[in-house]
Amino acid sequence: MAFDRLTEKLTESFKRITKQDRISEKHLDTLLSDVRLALLDADVNTQVVNQFLDKIHASALNQKILTSLKPNEALMKLVYDELVELLGPETPSFDYPKGQKKVILFVGLQGTGKTTSAAKLAQLLRSKKDRKVLLVAADLARPAAIDQLEILAEQAQVSVFVEKDEKNSLNVVKHAMKFAENGNFDTIIVDTAGRLAIDEALMLELKQIHDYLNPDEVLLTVDAMTGQDVIHTADGFNRNLNLTGLVVTKFDADAKGGAVLSVKALTGVPVKLVGTGEKLDDTDIFYPDRMANRLIGMGDLLSLVEQAQDKMDIEAGQRSMERIMEGLFTFDDMLDQFNQLSKMGSLQNMLKMIPGASQLANQVNDTESNAMIKKNKAIILSMTPEEREDASLLRASRKNRIAKGSGTTLNDVNRLINQYEKAKEQMRLLKRLAKNNPNIR
Ligand code: GDP
Repeated sequence: MAFDRLTEKLTESFKRITKQDRISEKHLDTLLSDVRLALLDADVNTQVVNQFLDKIHASALNQKILTSLKPNEALMKLVYDELVELLGPETPSFDYPKGQKKVILFVGLQGTGKTTSAAKLAQLLRSKKDRKVLLVAADLARPAAIDQLEILAEQAQVSVFVEKDEKNSLNVVKHAMKFAENGNFDTIIVDTAGRLAIDEALMLELKQIHDYLNPDEVLLTVDAMTGQDVIHTADGFNRNLNLTGLVVTKFDADAKGGAVLSVKALTGVPVKLVGTGEKLDDTDIFYPDRMANRLIGMGDLLSLVEQAQDKMDIEAGQRSMERIMEGLFTFDDMLDQFNQLSKMGSLQNMLKMIPGASQLANQVNDTESNAMIKKNKAIILSMTPEEREDASLLRASRKNRIAKGSGTTLNDVNRLINQYEKAKEQMRLLKRLAKNNPNIR
């Protein structure tokens, strides 16, 4: 994931100064030169790095941070504040007043993830912000774009407007707006054409659509992997179309991410949305304060809690807890737990959001743990309902059958049974504790 290395380096630099009782100007200089190297290594623009560090240096001296009661904490807070300022704005994105019509125009170069991001935002606004969304297919340049948007709209459970025989994208947009008016849509998201590079014909087409729509948001998708090019692209589009925000895609890939930290300072356009995968729910609204927290190794608990609430089946969790408290814990309960774990997504990403655990995250291998969960689920699914209720039925011949049925080995089956017995023992202990201490429940 982008920024992993930067976070690691910043955390290390801060750790070094937290070991000091008192901080001298020399310590401050060492910290700032560490931070400089970390930022440059993450591909943050040199000009931005210099300005950022100058500001921290001046504020540290002005605010007499070095002589304050807890200089380490004060310094960390200062870096945090400057990072938030660098990434701003602080006003939450996409919190539109209910019922107010909003038009969102997506622009970007081909292959940057424009169509995918338009559908991701459509799903997000429908499911989390209660908006009635219409997606509009106005990318007539790429032959498959219309079909792709139709498929994505269905997955996102939002309506889509297409006109396959219309050759003029402005006409499509005009007709779509009428359709939206009649259908009482409050959010119209328009996917437009892209090119391999910015050219006049593209800008002219986009400007016409822009002038007609007078959109509330003009979002440019940029690919995090393209590094500093992001700044030139953002600048080019911004001059012509007054961008309101950036959508940075492919954040999941091993991009250094520095452009994300530079682009607001250099072009004035803030990042509003981040794409973290190919699936529709692989997207996050960008919160500067949360990102700043994560960068200095303080984790991002708020995002973690939201993710957990979104993806966990709370009712199933409660049911499971009640059964455990009754002293019942079967392979079916275990299967439930594995299902919940798979739904939560990347364990590594979750650990990164927990303060202090970001380094632990590096020791976790998502591919391995996913494969293990998959294996365990296959083993339980190969058991009969009776076997799932009563582990004592599992003798050698049954175990062999289960191994065969699940495409695993006898060793794997024995390992899972062992794990189950241990878990059951722990549940018994928990039940006894709960009985003696009513506060536990
Ligand atoms: P467009 O030409 O700009 O409309 O690009 P598309 O939306 O067709 O996306 C191009 C490719 O990038 C597709 O294969 C998408 O699945 C992929 N893609 C889009 N966003 C992301 C992302 O955030 N992460 C990853 N890994 N892939 C993405």
